[in-house]
Amino acid sequence: MHTLSTPDLTTPNPTGKYYGFWSFAIVALWVILWSVFLPWPVYGGWILLGTYVLADVGSYVFHYYYDHYADPHRSEIARGFQWHHLDPGGLCRGPICETLESAALILVPLLLLTAILTLLGALPRWFALALSSTGLIVLFCQVIHRWSHNEHNHWAVRALQKTRLIVTPEAHDKHHQPPHGSHYAIVSGWSNPALDALGLPTALDAIMAHAKIPRRTGYELGEESPTRELQA
Ligand SMILES: [Zn+2]
Ligand SMILES: [Zn+2]
Repeated sequence: MHTLSTPDLTTPNPTGKYYGFWSFAIVALWVILWSVFLPWPVYGGWILLGTYVLADVGSYVFHYYYDHYADPHRSEIARGFQWHHLDPGGLCRGPICETLESAALILVPLLLLTAILTLLGALPRWFALALSSTGLIVLFCQVIHRWSHNEHNHWAVRALQKTRLIVTPEAHDKHHQPPHGSHYAIVSGWSNPALDALGLPTALDAIMAHAKIPRRTGYELGEESPTRELQA
């Protein structure tokens, strides 16, 4: 028997400042990678747009998997996603660098490697640009999600939401309304109407059933208690 604790969203993470620094490093790496190729190739804008759309679609699939299939007893990310449905406002508590930390841990080494390989000429430049842009979007995915729950955003964030460049609070709120089966994309939210209409959740359920991965029933972290005793 072991205890499953909820994500701690109130106590500041003492290492949080380093994640903040690393997140800055990712942005810097992205700017360096793009500036190396100045003047920008004509396809640069298409790469940026394409990766932004693909990242939104990816966030839909990723979010669906972690909401309904990943084991919260084994995965920190699953625990975060599933606990979020029991405490949506919790995402806005704590410093923003903590929101960035899980993605930053993976992305900083990957983007550093991409930058080195690209500067050595081992990666095609279009691939490096696509990869670094995807990394940057994935890094800020949870921050964009956090902003969609935050009632007191900076005017610049509100402008991005108003122009629908990032997912709006209204669009994301539909994900948190019963029956909780739609609007999983959390980058721009552009792909939500199409993927919901196409029935992507049903298709993903079929793929998971084929792979014999059981769908989890509800959110298993316990509706009331902050901790819950679980059978090992
Ligand atoms: Zn969700
Ligand atoms: Zn949410």
